[in-house]
Amino acid sequence: MIERSLPKAAAQRLLQLQAMVDAIATKRQARKAASDLAQRLVALGVEPEKARHAAEKAQRNGCGLCMAKNRRGLPCIALGDGAGGRCRFHGGLSTGPKTPEGRQRALEALARGRLRAADNRRRGPAGS
Ligand SMILES: [Zn+2]
Repeated sequence: MIERSLPKAAAQRLLQLQAMVDAIATKRQARKAASDLAQRLVALGVEPEKARHAAEKAQRNGCGLCMAKNRRGLPCIALGDGAGGRCRFHGGLSTGPKTPEGRQRALEALARGRLRAADNRRRGPAGS
């Protein structure tokens, strides 16, 4: 061990420097990952400026982008931190009830809503 043969102050300084080097390496890796993602987006047809912003945003937030194919045929560049790594527009929010009780409850709510809507139609516009 080199550290053992050094004076304590020098050994501490060495550890500090090692930590700094590690921090720089980590930052460099993050930047590389962001630029790789931006390049991938550009290859898929996203405007370079938008791709760069989206990649930085994903990096900052520590999650990926949604990447669902949108109506223009481009990948969705919203943050994909929901279910399946998708955004709130592309299935990232709830994907529906899973338990039999939950499904039943959802169907009942649907029926209630439809009955209410039919009732409102029968009554006609408010105030008439
Ligand atoms: Zn999306």
